[in-house]
Amino acid sequence: MTTLTNSILEAVREGAGFPEAFTPLHEPEFAGREEDYVADCIRTGWVSSVGSFVDRFEADLAEFTGCSRAVATVNGTAALHIALKCSGVQAGDEVLLPTLTFVATANATSYAGAIPHFVDSEATTLAVCPEALRSHLEECAEKRDGGCFNRKTGRRIAALVVMHAFGHPAQLDPLLELCREWSIPLVEDAAESLGSYYQGRHTGGFGLVSALSFNGNKILTTGGGGAILTNDPAIADRAKHLTTTARISDGWNFTHDEIGYNYRLPNLNAALGCAQLERITDMLQRKRALAMRYKALFKDIAGVRLLEEPQGTESNYWLCTLVLEQFDHQLHTEVLSALNDAGLMARPVWTLMHRLPMFADAPRADLSCAERLAVQIINIPSSPKLFAAPAGAGGDV
Ligand SMILES: *Cc1c(COP(=O)(O)O)cnc(C)c1O
Repeated sequence: MTTLTNSILEAVREGAGFPEAFTPLHEPEFAGREEDYVADCIRTGWVSSVGSFVDRFEADLAEFTGCSRAVATVNGTAALHIALKCSGVQAGDEVLLPTLTFVATANATSYAGAIPHFVDSEATTLAVCPEALRSHLEECAEKRDGGCFNRKTGRRIAALVVMHAFGHPAQLDPLLELCREWSIPLVEDAAESLGSYYQGRHTGGFGLVSALSFNGNKILTTGGGGAILTNDPAIADRAKHLTTTARISDGWNFTHDEIGYNYRLPNLNAALGCAQLERITDMLQRKRALAMRYKALFKDIAGVRLLEEPQGTESNYWLCTLVLEQFDHQLHTEVLSALNDAGLMARPVWTLMHRLPMFADAPRADLSCAERLAVQIINIPSSPKLFAAPAGAGGDV
């Protein structure tokens, strides 16, 4: 084992609080009224697609994020699918999205009948690089008929999906500016960024429409779940309609006016979400404290850094992320094995989308920064419970 690998192993072990048992990347935490609210659903019989927790969860999410509306869905992928449809994406269009993302972003694009068009990321936020995207559009796109078109494929470029990787907000201002210039709607994949702010405003409220996820490993969980966020009431109504089988009710009679989706979040899951949202501030504080403890431990280790929240942003530090200085495949593998062998779960970034067999032929920009990041990034244990300040002590350990 190299000295660097050994230093990283010791720092992660200390940062995680010298755990004795296997330590997952991100564990859910149920320390509030979760059990009460779920039991309430069972006692009253309102477990499924109707119930007061769904309405309350949507209202609470809108309030927490500062968006005018939230529509709860069965998972984050479904939320992204409908977000794309609501932003105007149609079959045969292209959607710009980072190659460095979770597969759900590209899958949702395919569900909408569109073709993913992969773009590069940058090393400070790990999100879509505005400069690289600008040059790429100048090289391959043209504006006509009020829209943006790919000159090589002839297809319309119908949206840009920006993903806030591991909770760190993307450079939204230059990306929004670029989208305005090219008449491309911006959609945020905010699945990882609940509780993350860009210049004081919650992520997910910058794009035309955006998606959240409440999967088991996310900041807040409903077991499985997601939500669509928007400040446009017409889009919110359309999202609600599409996710509830496009149902129109008229007293005791109901009908459907287009092909809709059964993407509703069950009341049982929403109950869990309501209780989780009551504790989100506390969970975010402990996650931040954990990230600061890692940051201090990694400060003096040459060859690696803890990815910090970009300037002008507040990150939820969903997954604490180490970035190796070298583009050294062997070192990357060695560190990952050493951590996992020691029971400290660690993961490389997702396989880049353009390397997956189903997207092998998709159009793409130069992706060299993402290619380098793929051998530099290591996610380390980030559960809020790893930072349990002793009662009354507060602050750092
Ligand atoms: C978690 C996640 C999603 C949505 O995932 P679901 O499991 O469907 O809730 C989408 N995009 C990204 C980047 C994610 O991390």
